[in-house]
Amino acid sequence: MKKTIVIIGAGPAGLMAGLEALQNDLNVIIIEKSSFPGGKGASIKWGDYLVDYGPHVFHPATESLKKLMIKYSGGKEFQPKIMQSLYVEDQPMDYPFRISQAISHLKFTTNLKIFFDYFFVKLKSIVFKPPKTNFKEFGIANFGNTLYQICFGKYSERVWGCSAENISIEFAMRKLPSLSLRSLLIDSLSKRKKSHTSYHDSGFLYHENGIGTIFNNIAADLLERGVQFIYNSTIKELILKDGKIASVIVNDTEVYLDYLLTTMPLGELVSLISDKYCLFTKYSDAMQYRNTIFVNVILNRPQFSKFNWSFLVNERFIFNRVSEQKNLFPTFAPKNKTLITLEKVCKNSDPEWLRDACMWRSDVEKELGFFGVSGNEIDSIFINKLEKSYPFMYVGYEFQKINCLNDLASFKNLITTGRYGLSIDTDMHDSMQLGREAISYLINQKVSDFYTQHEEICKTRAA
Ligand SMILES: Cc1cc2nc3c(=O)[nH]c(=O)nc-3n(C[C@H](O)[C@H](O)[C@H](O)COP(=O)(O)OP(=O)(O)OC[C@H]3O[C@@H](n4cnc5c(N)ncnc54)[C@H](O)[C@@H]3O)c2cc1C
Repeated sequence: MKKTIVIIGAGPAGLMAGLEALQNDLNVIIIEKSSFPGGKGASIKWGDYLVDYGPHVFHPATESLKKLMIKYSGGKEFQPKIMQSLYVEDQPMDYPFRISQAISHLKFTTNLKIFFDYFFVKLKSIVFKPPKTNFKEFGIANFGNTLYQICFGKYSERVWGCSAENISIEFAMRKLPSLSLRSLLIDSLSKRKKSHTSYHDSGFLYHENGIGTIFNNIAADLLERGVQFIYNSTIKELILKDGKIASVIVNDTEVYLDYLLTTMPLGELVSLISDKYCLFTKYSDAMQYRNTIFVNVILNRPQFSKFNWSFLVNERFIFNRVSEQKNLFPTFAPKNKTLITLEKVCKNSDPEWLRDACMWRSDVEKELGFFGVSGNEIDSIFINKLEKSYPFMYVGYEFQKINCLNDLASFKNLITTGRYGLSIDTDMHDSMQLGREAISYLINQKVSDFYTQHEEICKTRAA
Protein backbone atom coordinates (compact mmCIF):
# COMPACT_ATOMS: atom_id res chain seq x y z
CA MET A 1 0.00 0.00 0.00
CA LYS A 2 1.17 3.53 -0.78
CA LYS A 3 2.40 5.65 2.09
CA THR A 4 0.58 8.93 2.77
CA ILE A 5 2.12 12.36 3.09
CA VAL A 6 0.16 15.33 4.40
CA ILE A 7 1.48 18.68 3.18
CA ILE A 8 0.39 21.85 4.95
CA GLY A 9 0.24 24.83 2.60
CA ALA A 10 -0.32 25.04 -1.16
CA GLY A 11 2.24 27.81 -1.72
CA PRO A 12 5.32 27.41 -3.95
CA ALA A 13 7.07 25.15 -1.39
CA GLY A 14 4.05 22.92 -0.71
CA LEU A 15 3.14 22.51 -4.40
CA MET A 16 6.70 21.63 -5.30
CA ALA A 17 6.80 19.13 -2.45
CA GLY A 18 3.56 17.67 -3.86
CA LEU A 19 5.16 17.13 -7.28
CA GLU A 20 8.20 15.49 -5.70
CA ALA A 21 6.04 13.30 -3.44
CA LEU A 22 4.17 11.98 -6.49
CA GLN A 23 7.51 11.14 -8.10
CA ASN A 24 8.22 9.09 -4.99
CA ASP A 25 4.93 7.24 -5.34
CA LEU A 26 3.30 8.71 -2.24
CA ASN A 27 -0.37 9.32 -1.65
CA VAL A 28 -0.57 13.13 -1.24
CA ILE A 29 -3.02 15.27 0.75
CA ILE A 30 -2.53 19.07 0.73
CA ILE A 31 -4.23 21.16 3.41
CA GLU A 32 -4.49 24.88 2.60
CA LYS A 33 -5.78 27.65 4.84
CA SER A 34 -7.05 29.87 2.03
CA SER A 35 -9.40 29.10 -0.86
CA PHE A 36 -6.73 29.07 -3.59
CA PRO A 37 -3.23 27.73 -4.30
CA GLY A 38 -0.05 29.79 -4.79
CA GLY A 39 0.43 31.26 -1.31
CA LYS A 40 2.16 34.62 -1.57
CA GLY A 41 2.92 33.82 -5.20
CA ALA A 42 -0.80 34.01 -6.10
CA SER A 43 -2.11 36.66 -8.52
CA ILE A 44 -5.36 38.49 -7.86
CA LYS A 45 -7.92 39.72 -10.38
CA TRP A 46 -9.64 43.00 -9.43
CA GLY A 47 -12.15 43.92 -12.15
CA ASP A 48 -10.08 44.82 -15.22
CA TYR A 49 -6.83 44.77 -13.23
CA LEU A 50 -4.40 42.07 -12.25
CA VAL A 51 -2.13 42.37 -9.23
CA ASP A 52 0.32 40.20 -7.34
CA TYR A 53 1.17 40.53 -3.67
CA GLY A 54 3.72 43.22 -4.47
CA PRO A 55 6.06 42.56 -7.37
CA HIS A 56 6.59 38.82 -7.84
CA VAL A 57 8.97 37.79 -10.61
CA PHE A 58 10.63 34.39 -10.69
CA HIS A 59 14.37 33.87 -10.73
CA PRO A 60 15.14 30.63 -12.60
CA ALA A 61 18.04 29.61 -10.36
CA THR A 62 18.49 26.16 -11.91
CA GLU A 63 17.79 24.69 -15.34
CA SER A 64 15.33 22.21 -13.86
CA LEU A 65 13.32 24.94 -12.11
CA LYS A 66 13.31 26.97 -15.29
CA LYS A 67 12.03 23.98 -17.31
CA LEU A 68 9.35 23.33 -14.72
CA MET A 69 8.12 26.93 -14.73
CA ILE A 70 8.03 26.96 -18.54
CA LYS A 71 6.18 23.63 -18.60
CA TYR A 72 3.49 25.02 -16.29
CA SER A 73 3.36 28.22 -18.36
CA GLY A 74 2.09 26.10 -21.26
CA GLY A 75 5.52 26.01 -22.89
CA LYS A 76 5.81 29.81 -23.15
CA GLU A 77 8.94 31.45 -21.85
CA PHE A 78 8.28 35.05 -20.91
CA GLN A 79 11.33 36.89 -19.65
CA PRO A 80 10.31 40.39 -18.63
CA LYS A 81 12.87 43.16 -18.69
CA ILE A 82 12.76 44.47 -15.16
CA MET A 83 13.59 48.08 -14.33
CA GLN A 84 14.00 48.93 -10.67
CA SER A 85 15.03 52.08 -8.90
CA LEU A 86 15.90 53.46 -5.49
CA TYR A 87 14.64 56.90 -4.51
CA VAL A 88 17.56 58.35 -2.58
CA GLU A 89 17.82 62.09 -1.87
CA ASP A 90 14.63 62.54 -3.98
CA GLN A 91 16.32 61.11 -7.07
CA PRO A 92 15.57 57.78 -8.76
CA MET A 93 18.76 55.75 -9.09
CA ASP A 94 19.02 52.44 -10.91
CA TYR A 95 18.96 49.27 -8.88
CA PRO A 96 21.20 47.22 -8.82
CA PHE A 97 23.23 50.16 -7.66
CA ARG A 98 25.78 51.90 -9.94
CA ILE A 99 28.34 54.04 -8.16
CA SER A 100 28.87 56.24 -11.24
CA GLN A 101 25.19 57.13 -11.17
CA ALA A 102 25.30 57.81 -7.44
CA ILE A 103 28.16 60.24 -7.99
CA SER A 104 26.31 62.10 -10.72
CA HIS A 105 22.94 62.10 -8.90
CA LEU A 106 23.89 62.86 -5.32
CA LYS A 107 24.86 66.28 -4.03
CA PHE A 108 28.57 67.16 -4.17
CA THR A 109 28.72 67.41 -0.37
CA THR A 110 27.06 63.99 0.00
CA ASN A 111 29.61 62.46 -2.37
CA LEU A 112 32.44 64.01 -0.38
CA LYS A 113 31.03 62.54 2.83
CA ILE A 114 30.60 59.12 1.18
CA PHE A 115 34.24 58.97 0.13
CA PHE A 116 35.58 60.43 3.35
CA ASP A 117 33.58 57.93 5.45
CA TYR A 118 34.53 55.00 3.30
CA PHE A 119 38.26 55.70 3.38
CA PHE A 120 38.09 56.40 7.10
CA VAL A 121 36.46 53.00 7.71
CA LYS A 122 39.01 51.25 5.50
CA LEU A 123 42.00 53.00 7.09
CA LYS A 124 40.70 52.21 10.55
CA SER A 125 40.25 48.57 9.57
CA ILE A 126 44.02 48.26 8.92
CA VAL A 127 44.63 48.74 12.63
CA PHE A 128 41.39 47.40 14.04
CA LYS A 129 39.17 44.82 12.32
CA PRO A 130 35.63 46.24 12.53
CA PRO A 131 33.00 44.03 14.19
CA LYS A 132 30.36 42.60 11.85
CA THR A 133 27.76 41.21 14.21
CA ASN A 134 24.63 42.91 12.88
CA PHE A 135 23.16 44.62 9.80
CA LYS A 136 24.45 48.08 10.75
CA GLU A 137 28.02 47.01 11.42
CA PHE A 138 28.08 44.97 8.23
CA GLY A 139 26.73 47.89 6.19
CA ILE A 140 29.12 50.46 7.63
CA ALA A 141 32.13 48.16 7.22
CA ASN A 142 31.25 47.62 3.56
CA PHE A 143 29.99 51.03 2.51
CA GLY A 144 31.06 53.60 5.10
CA ASN A 145 28.49 55.33 7.28
CA THR A 146 27.05 57.88 4.82
CA LEU A 147 26.36 55.59 1.88
CA TYR A 148 25.11 52.86 4.22
CA GLN A 149 22.70 55.24 5.97
CA ILE A 150 21.23 56.87 2.88
CA CYS A 151 20.83 53.66 0.88
CA PHE A 152 20.23 50.87 3.38
CA GLY A 153 20.31 51.82 7.05
CA LYS A 154 17.39 54.17 7.54
CA TYR A 155 15.25 52.30 5.01
CA SER A 156 15.82 48.97 6.76
CA GLU A 157 14.96 50.51 10.11
CA ARG A 158 11.66 51.76 8.66
CA VAL A 159 10.82 48.36 7.15
CA TRP A 160 11.76 46.32 10.21
CA GLY A 161 10.53 48.82 12.77
CA CYS A 162 13.70 48.63 14.86
CA SER A 163 17.29 49.79 15.02
CA ALA A 164 19.50 48.18 12.35
CA GLU A 165 21.67 46.98 15.23
CA ASN A 166 18.86 44.52 15.99
CA ILE A 167 18.80 43.07 12.46
CA SER A 168 20.90 39.95 12.10
CA ILE A 169 24.15 39.63 10.22
CA GLU A 170 22.60 36.65 8.35
CA PHE A 171 20.01 38.98 6.89
CA ALA A 172 22.69 41.50 5.89
CA MET A 173 24.67 38.77 4.17
CA ARG A 174 21.59 37.55 2.30
CA LYS A 175 20.57 41.02 1.16
CA LEU A 176 23.98 42.61 0.61
CA PRO A 177 26.06 39.50 -0.03
CA SER A 178 29.24 40.54 -1.74
CA LEU A 179 28.76 44.23 -2.34
CA SER A 180 31.16 46.77 -1.00
CA LEU A 181 31.97 50.28 -2.07
CA ARG A 182 35.31 48.95 -3.28
CA SER A 183 33.70 46.33 -5.56
CA LEU A 184 31.19 48.86 -6.86
CA LEU A 185 33.99 51.33 -7.60
CA ILE A 186 36.04 48.72 -9.43
CA ASP A 187 32.99 47.65 -11.44
CA SER A 188 32.16 51.15 -12.53
CA LEU A 189 35.73 52.23 -13.28
CA SER A 190 36.88 49.12 -15.13
CA LYS A 191 35.51 47.33 -18.15
CA ARG A 192 36.11 43.92 -16.65
CA LYS A 193 33.28 41.59 -15.72
CA LYS A 194 31.42 42.64 -12.60
CA SER A 195 32.99 41.45 -9.36
CA HIS A 196 29.56 40.44 -8.07
CA THR A 197 26.63 38.77 -9.75
CA SER A 198 23.00 38.90 -8.80
CA TYR A 199 19.60 37.67 -9.89
CA HIS A 200 19.38 40.72 -12.08
CA ASP A 201 22.19 39.49 -14.31
CA SER A 202 20.50 36.19 -15.15
CA GLY A 203 16.97 37.50 -15.66
CA PHE A 204 13.50 36.60 -14.49
CA LEU A 205 10.46 34.61 -15.62
CA TYR A 206 6.84 35.67 -15.42
CA HIS A 207 3.48 34.66 -16.92
CA GLU A 208 1.25 36.71 -19.18
CA ASN A 209 -1.73 36.06 -16.86
CA GLY A 210 0.17 36.69 -13.64
CA ILE A 211 2.75 34.58 -11.81
CA GLY A 212 -0.06 32.92 -9.84
CA THR A 213 -1.25 31.22 -13.05
CA ILE A 214 1.82 28.98 -12.94
CA PHE A 215 0.96 27.86 -9.40
CA ASN A 216 -2.70 27.36 -10.39
CA ASN A 217 -1.49 25.14 -13.24
CA ILE A 218 0.74 23.10 -10.92
CA ALA A 219 -2.19 22.64 -8.51
CA ALA A 220 -4.48 21.59 -11.39
CA ASP A 221 -1.91 19.02 -12.53
CA LEU A 222 -1.53 17.65 -9.00
CA LEU A 223 -5.31 17.36 -8.68
CA GLU A 224 -5.54 15.51 -11.96
CA ARG A 225 -2.84 13.10 -10.79
CA GLY A 226 -4.81 12.18 -7.68
CA VAL A 227 -3.65 14.66 -5.05
CA GLN A 228 -6.39 15.56 -2.58
CA PHE A 229 -6.64 19.29 -1.78
CA ILE A 230 -8.46 20.41 1.36
CA TYR A 231 -8.92 24.19 1.06
CA ASN A 232 -10.15 26.69 3.68
CA SER A 233 -8.75 24.42 6.36
CA THR A 234 -6.05 24.42 8.99
CA ILE A 235 -4.75 21.82 11.35
CA LYS A 236 -6.29 21.91 14.81
CA GLU A 237 -4.06 19.32 16.41
CA LEU A 238 -1.13 17.02 15.78
CA ILE A 239 -1.49 13.54 17.27
CA LEU A 240 1.79 12.05 18.39
CA LYS A 241 2.52 8.37 18.92
CA ASP A 242 5.85 6.64 19.60
CA GLY A 243 7.88 9.77 18.81
CA LYS A 244 6.16 10.30 15.45
CA ILE A 245 3.26 12.32 14.11
CA ALA A 246 0.56 9.69 13.66
CA SER A 247 -2.27 11.88 12.40
CA VAL A 248 -3.62 15.43 12.19
CA ILE A 249 -7.04 16.81 13.01
CA VAL A 250 -8.52 18.82 10.14
CA ASN A 251 -12.12 20.04 10.15
CA ASP A 252 -12.88 17.67 13.04
CA THR A 253 -11.64 14.70 11.00
CA GLU A 254 -8.57 12.68 11.88
CA VAL A 255 -6.26 12.21 8.89
CA TYR A 256 -3.70 9.40 9.31
CA LEU A 257 -0.30 9.84 7.76
CA ASP A 258 3.17 8.41 7.31
CA TYR A 259 4.88 11.74 6.70
CA LEU A 260 4.05 15.35 7.51
CA LEU A 261 5.59 18.25 5.62
CA THR A 262 4.56 21.71 6.73
CA THR A 263 5.13 25.18 5.27
CA MET A 264 3.09 27.07 7.87
CA PRO A 265 4.99 29.64 9.96
CA LEU A 266 7.40 27.84 12.29
CA GLY A 267 6.10 29.53 15.44
CA GLU A 268 2.54 28.37 14.66
CA LEU A 269 3.68 24.79 14.12
CA VAL A 270 5.57 24.76 17.38
CA SER A 271 2.57 26.10 19.27
CA LEU A 272 0.50 23.14 17.96
CA ILE A 273 2.75 20.70 19.76
CA SER A 274 2.06 20.34 23.42
CA ASP A 275 4.96 21.01 25.79
CA LYS A 276 4.38 17.64 27.34
CA TYR A 277 6.18 16.21 24.28
CA CYS A 278 8.91 18.76 23.79
CA LEU A 279 10.92 21.48 25.43
CA PHE A 280 10.78 23.93 22.60
CA THR A 281 7.24 25.30 22.82
CA LYS A 282 8.64 28.26 24.73
CA TYR A 283 10.35 29.32 21.50
CA SER A 284 7.12 29.63 19.51
CA ASP A 285 6.86 33.40 20.09
CA ALA A 286 10.52 33.83 19.26
CA MET A 287 9.80 33.45 15.55
CA GLN A 288 8.74 36.96 14.57
CA TYR A 289 7.24 38.27 11.36
CA ARG A 290 6.22 41.59 9.81
CA ASN A 291 2.98 42.18 7.89
CA THR A 292 2.50 43.99 4.59
CA ILE A 293 -0.38 46.20 3.50
CA PHE A 294 -0.71 46.58 -0.27
CA VAL A 295 -2.47 49.83 -1.09
CA ASN A 296 -3.54 49.46 -4.73
CA VAL A 297 -4.31 52.73 -6.46
CA ILE A 298 -6.05 52.96 -9.83
CA LEU A 299 -4.91 56.07 -11.69
CA ASN A 300 -6.62 57.89 -14.54
CA ARG A 301 -3.48 57.93 -16.65
CA PRO A 302 -1.90 55.30 -18.90
CA GLN A 303 1.42 55.03 -17.02
CA PHE A 304 2.86 56.10 -13.68
CA SER A 305 6.58 55.55 -14.37
CA LYS A 306 8.91 53.44 -16.49
CA PHE A 307 9.98 51.32 -13.49
CA ASN A 308 8.50 47.97 -12.51
CA TRP A 309 9.16 48.91 -8.94
CA SER A 310 10.97 51.56 -6.92
CA PHE A 311 12.22 51.36 -3.36
CA LEU A 312 11.14 54.51 -1.53
CA VAL A 313 14.32 54.86 0.48
CA ASN A 314 14.29 58.54 1.36
CA GLU A 315 12.90 59.29 4.82
CA ARG A 316 10.27 61.62 3.36
CA PHE A 317 8.26 58.61 2.12
CA ILE A 318 5.38 56.95 3.95
CA PHE A 319 5.43 53.72 1.93
CA ASN A 320 8.35 51.34 1.38
CA ARG A 321 7.97 50.48 -2.28
CA VAL A 322 5.81 51.35 -5.28
CA SER A 323 5.24 48.96 -8.18
CA GLU A 324 3.34 49.09 -11.46
CA GLN A 325 2.01 45.78 -12.79
CA LYS A 326 1.19 47.16 -16.22
CA ASN A 327 4.91 47.50 -16.91
CA LEU A 328 5.11 43.68 -16.88
CA PHE A 329 2.18 43.26 -19.27
CA PRO A 330 0.10 46.08 -20.83
CA THR A 331 -3.04 43.92 -20.51
CA PHE A 332 -2.90 44.10 -16.71
CA ALA A 333 -4.85 47.39 -16.81
CA PRO A 334 -7.10 49.15 -19.36
CA LYS A 335 -5.33 51.29 -21.97
CA ASN A 336 -5.98 54.71 -20.46
CA LYS A 337 -5.52 53.67 -16.82
CA THR A 338 -2.87 52.09 -14.66
CA LEU A 339 -2.67 50.48 -11.25
CA ILE A 340 0.15 51.05 -8.81
CA THR A 341 0.74 49.21 -5.56
CA LEU A 342 2.17 51.03 -2.56
CA GLU A 343 3.54 48.71 0.11
CA LYS A 344 3.69 49.43 3.80
CA VAL A 345 5.38 46.97 6.14
CA CYS A 346 4.07 46.99 9.71
CA LYS A 347 3.12 44.84 12.66
CA ASN A 348 -0.29 43.74 13.99
CA SER A 349 -0.37 46.36 16.73
CA ASP A 350 0.33 49.30 14.37
CA PRO A 351 -2.84 51.38 13.80
CA GLU A 352 -2.29 51.20 10.00
CA TRP A 353 -2.91 47.45 10.06
CA LEU A 354 -6.59 48.06 10.90
CA ARG A 355 -7.20 50.85 8.38
CA ASP A 356 -9.63 50.29 5.52
CA ALA A 357 -9.04 51.50 1.95
CA CYS A 358 -10.61 54.96 2.31
CA MET A 359 -8.43 55.73 5.34
CA TRP A 360 -5.36 55.52 3.09
CA ARG A 361 -6.53 58.29 0.76
CA SER A 362 -4.67 61.22 2.35
CA ASP A 363 -1.38 59.27 2.67
CA VAL A 364 -1.70 58.15 -0.95
CA GLU A 365 -2.33 61.73 -2.14
CA LYS A 366 0.65 62.99 -0.16
CA GLU A 367 2.97 60.26 -1.45
CA LEU A 368 1.86 60.54 -5.06
CA GLY A 369 2.06 64.34 -4.93
CA PHE A 370 5.83 63.90 -4.83
CA PHE A 371 5.62 62.11 -8.19
CA GLY A 372 3.44 64.84 -9.71
CA VAL A 373 0.16 62.89 -9.51
CA SER A 374 -2.78 65.08 -8.53
CA GLY A 375 -5.65 63.97 -6.27
CA ASN A 376 -8.19 63.98 -9.10
CA GLU A 377 -6.09 61.47 -11.05
CA ILE A 378 -6.81 58.91 -8.33
CA ASP A 379 -9.73 56.81 -9.54
CA SER A 380 -10.05 54.39 -6.62
CA ILE A 381 -8.12 52.56 -3.92
CA PHE A 382 -8.38 48.98 -2.69
CA ILE A 383 -6.15 47.12 -0.28
CA ASN A 384 -4.81 43.60 0.23
CA LYS A 385 -3.11 42.53 3.41
CA LEU A 386 -0.60 39.80 4.13
CA GLU A 387 -0.07 38.81 7.71
CA LYS A 388 3.41 37.42 8.46
CA SER A 389 4.75 38.36 5.04
CA TYR A 390 8.37 38.81 6.15
CA PRO A 391 10.20 36.53 8.58
CA PHE A 392 12.11 38.87 10.89
CA MET A 393 15.75 37.80 11.10
CA TYR A 394 16.66 39.72 14.24
CA VAL A 395 19.90 39.43 16.18
CA GLY A 396 19.65 36.21 18.17
CA TYR A 397 16.83 34.70 16.09
CA GLU A 398 19.17 32.01 14.73
CA PHE A 399 19.73 30.64 18.23
CA GLN A 400 15.98 30.44 18.87
CA LYS A 401 15.35 28.87 15.48
CA ILE A 402 18.04 26.25 15.94
CA ASN A 403 16.48 25.33 19.27
CA CYS A 404 13.11 24.87 17.58
CA LEU A 405 14.53 22.87 14.69
CA ASN A 406 16.71 20.67 16.90
CA ASP A 407 13.74 19.72 19.00
CA LEU A 408 11.46 19.28 15.98
CA ALA A 409 14.06 16.93 14.48
CA SER A 410 13.17 14.42 17.18
CA PHE A 411 10.04 13.65 15.10
CA LYS A 412 11.48 11.54 12.32
CA ASN A 413 8.46 11.83 10.03
CA LEU A 414 8.03 15.63 10.20
CA ILE A 415 9.78 18.38 8.24
CA THR A 416 9.05 22.08 8.34
CA THR A 417 10.18 23.91 5.21
CA GLY A 418 9.66 26.89 2.90
CA ARG A 419 10.13 30.56 3.66
CA TYR A 420 7.93 30.61 6.76
CA GLY A 421 8.48 27.05 7.89
CA LEU A 422 12.19 27.79 8.17
CA SER A 423 11.75 31.49 8.97
CA ILE A 424 14.21 32.56 6.34
CA ASP A 425 13.88 35.36 3.81
CA THR A 426 13.84 33.18 0.68
CA ASP A 427 12.39 33.88 -2.74
CA MET A 428 10.04 31.59 -4.66
CA HIS A 429 12.76 29.53 -6.31
CA ASP A 430 14.48 28.84 -2.97
CA SER A 431 11.17 27.99 -1.34
CA MET A 432 10.35 25.57 -4.16
CA GLN A 433 13.79 24.02 -3.90
CA LEU A 434 13.34 23.65 -0.14
CA GLY A 435 9.94 21.99 -0.72
CA ARG A 436 11.34 19.60 -3.30
CA GLU A 437 14.48 18.64 -1.36
CA ALA A 438 12.58 18.09 1.89
CA ILE A 439 10.84 15.01 0.44
CA SER A 440 13.96 12.88 0.06
CA TYR A 441 15.25 13.88 3.52
CA LEU A 442 11.85 12.91 4.93
CA ILE A 443 11.64 9.55 3.19
CA ASN A 444 15.22 8.71 4.11
CA GLN A 445 14.64 9.79 7.73
CA LYS A 446 17.37 12.43 7.56
CA VAL A 447 15.35 15.19 9.14
CA SER A 448 18.21 16.75 11.14
CA ASP A 449 20.42 16.81 8.04
CA PHE A 450 17.76 18.78 6.20
CA TYR A 451 17.75 21.42 8.92
CA THR A 452 21.52 21.70 9.10
CA GLN A 453 21.72 21.96 5.32
CA HIS A 454 18.75 24.18 4.53
CA GLU A 455 20.71 27.42 4.24
CA GLU A 456 23.17 25.61 1.99
CA ILE A 457 20.30 24.34 -0.18
CA CYS A 458 19.28 27.96 -0.81
CA LYS A 459 22.81 29.23 -1.34
CA THR A 460 24.06 26.56 -3.68
CA ARG A 461 20.95 26.54 -5.83
CA ALA A 462 20.76 30.32 -6.17
CA ALA A 463 24.41 30.79 -7.09
C1 LIG B 1 5.90 41.60 -0.83
C2 LIG B 1 6.64 40.37 -1.28
C3 LIG B 1 7.27 40.37 -2.52
C4 LIG B 1 7.97 39.25 -2.95
N1 LIG B 1 8.55 39.26 -4.18
C5 LIG B 1 9.15 38.15 -4.64
C6 LIG B 1 9.71 38.12 -5.97
O1 LIG B 1 9.65 39.09 -6.72
N2 LIG B 1 10.30 36.96 -6.37
C7 LIG B 1 10.37 35.85 -5.57
O2 LIG B 1 10.90 34.84 -6.02
N3 LIG B 1 9.86 35.86 -4.32
C8 LIG B 1 9.25 36.97 -3.84
N4 LIG B 1 8.72 36.97 -2.57
C9 LIG B 1 8.88 35.76 -1.73
C10 LIG B 1 7.85 34.68 -2.07
O3 LIG B 1 6.56 35.19 -1.90
C11 LIG B 1 8.07 33.49 -1.14
O4 LIG B 1 9.40 33.03 -1.24
C12 LIG B 1 7.18 32.30 -1.45
O5 LIG B 1 5.83 32.65 -1.59
C13 LIG B 1 7.32 31.32 -0.30
O6 LIG B 1 6.64 30.14 -0.59
P1 LIG B 1 6.16 29.21 0.60
O7 LIG B 1 5.39 28.11 -0.02
O8 LIG B 1 7.32 28.88 1.44
O9 LIG B 1 5.21 30.13 1.50
P2 LIG B 1 3.73 30.81 1.11
O10 LIG B 1 3.83 31.37 -0.24
O11 LIG B 1 3.45 31.66 2.25
O12 LIG B 1 2.83 29.53 1.10
C14 LIG B 1 2.43 28.93 2.31
C15 LIG B 1 0.99 28.48 2.18
O13 LIG B 1 0.62 27.86 3.41
C16 LIG B 1 -0.67 28.29 3.78
N5 LIG B 1 -0.76 28.17 5.25
C17 LIG B 1 -0.15 28.92 6.19
N6 LIG B 1 -0.48 28.49 7.42
C18 LIG B 1 -1.31 27.45 7.24
C19 LIG B 1 -1.99 26.58 8.13
N7 LIG B 1 -1.89 26.71 9.45
N8 LIG B 1 -2.77 25.60 7.60
C20 LIG B 1 -2.90 25.46 6.26
N9 LIG B 1 -2.28 26.25 5.37
C21 LIG B 1 -1.49 27.23 5.86
C22 LIG B 1 -0.74 29.73 3.30
O14 LIG B 1 -2.09 30.13 3.13
C23 LIG B 1 0.02 29.64 1.97
O15 LIG B 1 -0.84 29.33 0.90
C24 LIG B 1 8.05 38.09 -2.10
C25 LIG B 1 7.41 38.09 -0.86
C26 LIG B 1 6.72 39.22 -0.44
C27 LIG B 1 6.05 39.20 0.90
